[in-house]
Amino acid sequence: MTKHEKIQRQTRAGTDLGGMFPRAFADEFVTIVHGDGPWVWDADENRYLDAISGNQNVNIGHGREEVAKAAKEQLERLEYTSSMLFANEPAMEYTEKIAEFTPDGFEKTWLVSSGSEANESAIKMARQYHYERGNQGKYKVISRRRSYHGNTAGAMAVSGFPARKTKMEPLFANFPKAPSATPYRCERCDADGGHACGVECANAVERLIQDEGPETVSAFITEPVTGAANAGAYPHDGYFERIREICDEYDVLFIVDEVMAGFGRTGENFAIEHWNVTPDIITGAKGMSGGYSPIGGTMPHRRIAEVFEGVEDGFQHGHTFCFNPASAAIGTAVLEYMDDHDLVDNARKVGAHLHDRCEEFYEYDFVGDVRGKGLMIGVEFVGDRETKEPLPETGSEFQSLLFEAGLDNGIVTYPGGGHVDGQYGDHVLITPPLTIDDELA
Ligand code: PLP
Repeated sequence: MTKHEKIQRQTRAGTDLGGMFPRAFADEFVTIVHGDGPWVWDADENRYLDAISGNQNVNIGHGREEVAKAAKEQLERLEYTSSMLFANEPAMEYTEKIAEFTPDGFEKTWLVSSGSEANESAIKMARQYHYERGNQGKYKVISRRRSYHGNTAGAMAVSGFPARKTKMEPLFANFPKAPSATPYRCERCDADGGHACGVECANAVERLIQDEGPETVSAFITEPVTGAANAGAYPHDGYFERIREICDEYDVLFIVDEVMAGFGRTGENFAIEHWNVTPDIITGAKGMSGGYSPIGGTMPHRRIAEVFEGVEDGFQHGHTFCFNPASAAIGTAVLEYMDDHDLVDNARKVGAHLHDRCEEFYEYDFVGDVRGKGLMIGVEFVGDRETKEPLPETGSEFQSLLFEAGLDNGIVTYPGGGHVDGQYGDHVLITPPLTIDDELA
């Protein structure tokens, strides 16, 4: 048996590893062995277009020598030091570089190792913010029904994605969920007639805060443009503006989860910048390190950070790998690459072109909706365009079929959706590296 065959056998979901390997869309894993730009190759030297940037994170493309060089230099100089005991130069440099990307008022980043951790940290940061201001009773975090904020216990508690959490319930916290605010399948449109998923869906969040008791609500968390739970969907104008007003009125922190959409993917540095709204905390990960190292970050607005400046021990949080010097050096190199190649602009321009091309899919009856911003595009499939009922093969059956068909045609795709809270929305997420050009798009 060759090494390749052995790995293939071992990574087959549910066989030799007894399920102790992440799930694949396909029955068997294809083993990817190297990459270059938007392309990856498997162990048999078949080439695939990576139309999903690894896992929506390899935004600068694969195999960048600049990043490998920065990693090597830092690993040789200092691979690790404890952030609980010491500061380190690469982490300080990286947080300064991040502050060049973040909107005005966001100068600091709490560095962690993933998107889930970034959201966990944001939830805890919001909690401690209220605690320090004498509001110990504010702990609930409201989120939207079709949402994904991560797989750790707290991040999962605020996610509305049954397929990823049902076997874990009841979770440690069962936080309230607001309408998804997604125009194509708005939960409130039928009730109110018309485009309710702007201000009306935001008002539903207000009612939820009132019902729960404002003195118990700490934060509202949302993805500005939704990823895995509702590919490329975003609410009508007016939604985020109204959410901002409501959060101010009830002293609830507004957290935007930019783990997938942030760092240029939607054609703005952060997706919330498509609307004229300033959140209280931004979370990021994926594109923040381009996939070259596991990194995430929690970025509080100055007015939140200031509360922690007056606290003796600061934010009561930390992991062994927080503010990791090697990861930080990699992150800086990735963000410099983005600057040097104007990748945020490129995402906007090529994204517009790719969006037009995806709209051509409407010629197929089974395409219900094409949406998204920049290079974060979702296509939703339906069995019947009028009724929006699902495809005959929905959920995981659809996902396997689409993923395998993609590989057979030399392209890596990211199918998802299925049954979420009584609604079907099988979709595919199209998120190529921000380096692609019109020709490839
Ligand atoms: N938030 C969003 C919007 C995501 O898309 C993801 C991952 O896909 C996460 C959080 C969790 O990030 P991670 O997988 O790095 O823990």
